[in-house]
Parts: sequence; C-alpha cells; structure tokens
Amino acid sequence: MIVNVDQASGFCFGVQNAVDRAEEQIRQTGPLYSLGDIVHNTVEVERLGKIGLKTIDKAEFVDLQNKRVFIRAHGEPPETYAQAKANNIELIDATCPVVLKLQERIKSFYDKGYQVLIYGKVEHPEVVGLNGQCENNAIVIRSPEMSEADLEKIDFSKPTVLFSQTTKDTKGFGELRTKLEQHFKAHDSTNKFKSKQSEQIFTEFLAKDTICRQVSNRDQKLIKFSSEHEAVIFVAGKKSSNGKVLYGVCKAANDRTFFAENESDLEAEWFKRPDGKLVESVGVCGATSTPMWLMERIAGYIRNRYNVD
Ligand code: SF4
Repeated sequence: MIVNVDQASGFCFGVQNAVDRAEEQIRQTGPLYSLGDIVHNTVEVERLGKIGLKTIDKAEFVDLQNKRVFIRAHGEPPETYAQAKANNIELIDATCPVVLKLQERIKSFYDKGYQVLIYGKVEHPEVVGLNGQCENNAIVIRSPEMSEADLEKIDFSKPTVLFSQTTKDTKGFGELRTKLEQHFKAHDSTNKFKSKQSEQIFTEFLAKDTICRQVSNRDQKLIKFSSEHEAVIFVAGKKSSNGKVLYGVCKAANDRTFFAENESDLEAEWFKRPDGKLVESVGVCGATSTPMWLMERIAGYIRNRYNVD
C-alpha cells in the first residue's frame, strides 16, 4: 500500500492568513478571544485553544468589555463593529479580502435600490456578514431547487442582483441563475425583460458569480487526485460547508472516498477490497479549512497501522 497526501489541499490563503495572524497576536500580546470558531475544523480550533485563542459566541461577545477580539476570515456584519465600539473592544480583523470585497459589492448594489439575492445558507457566518451589508434584507436561497417560500419572497418586478456565498458550488449557482432568469422572463408581461439586445430596460436581473476560485479551482485537482487512488480519505470538519462540497466532488470521482474529521473516524473496511485484500493506494486530501499538518498526521497513522513506509 502507498499513502499519499494531496499537496494541493489544505488551507486557502484567507484561512491561512487568519490562523497566522491569530498566532502572531497571541505570541506578541497574549491570549485572545475569537468571535466564533476561527476555522470549521475542530482539531485546529482545539490546537489554537491550547495556545490561547478562546472561542466565544455572539451572546458572550455582547457582554465583553475592554478586550481584544479576533474576527475570522468569514467576516462580520456592521452591527458587530458597532457593538465593539460601544464596549471598547479592540478588533483584530482577519476578514478575508475576497469576502470583504463581496461585502462592499453587496452594499453598493443595495444602496442603489437593488433587491439582493444570495445563493447560500442563511445561518452560515459569512452569509450573516453579507446580509448585514443590506440591513438583513437579502433573500437567501439555499438550493437551485427553490422552495415555494423562496419564490414568494422575490419581487420579480424589481431590479435584482444574485450573489453567491464564496464556498458554494458553481454548478448549483449556474442552475439557480438559469431558473431565476426564466422566472423573471415569465413575470415580465411586457416582454421587455432586460437582455443584451434590449434597449428598453423594464426589469433587470444580474447574476454575479462570487464563488471563490480558491474553492472552485480545487475541483479539477481533487478529481484527478481521487481518481488516481484506490481509496480516498477526505479530511474536513463536520461543520465545514466547503468540506461538504469538496467531499462530494471526490466521491463523484471515486466512490471509495470516505469522510474523516480525525484518526478516530477511520474504519478498517475503508482500506479493504471486497475480497478482503488491502487496497494498493490511499490518497489523503481535504478542504480549504483542513490544516496540512492534520492530513499528514492521518497519513502517518494509516502508514503505521498498515506497516507501510
Ligand atoms: S475560501 Fe476564498 S473567500 Fe473563503 S476564506 Fe478562503 S480565500 Fe477567502
């Protein structure tokens, strides 16, 4: 058996930057609070917790005074900044520049009077931060199979812009865009829905693909890596949105792909063929929120367990 770690997996630059900044701050000025888990990976959160990064939730944040609080790569809504000011909290802001730019674009369209739609999960911290840019008036759509409730919320006579949570899938975004375009056209009784050819603009629907290329560019690499190994261990936190998407990509490329948060999740059956013999190659890969050291540790554990170099 050979065991390989995918060198293209691991933290995206936004998460790497956040982790580096938190460690640097702790080294320079001591323990720090983090508003929410710094990364959707319990093992990494525990490691940082041991050196002084204490995770707090929104309720604890509101009660905090005169402390230093770390903002993770997902970003925060404006109310968090206002709350920090009121409570004399010093913010260490590690919002990813890609997310920051998206927040600015959403605010700009909202201020111009657009109805804002976001393809994402309403409870995801990044989406909470994005929705805050438009006074929580964005309509958040979880899946391209829109629900009746989603459709009822949308005003098809208003100029509208669709954005995406940065970690959603490009295929789903494309499907949602097409469906929404059809709805806007169907609701346009004057048949003057804006198109490239149209001179008269009655209703406008814009779709902005704001999926982070740090995520979508990984698809092809992961497909290749997964299909080159007989069994694949995909390492990610169970709370990671990006982890779920990329696990699905690997699973589609190689049905013998298994999800693990750490070594204790590994099952002996994953490494066996139907005839009971061991697989010849195992690939270990992960999400943009999975630290490289954890993938290496899991690969080392598999090598030890099966006595391979
Ligand atoms: S996935 Fe992209 S947008 Fe999200 S933190 Fe990483 S680099 Fe930033």
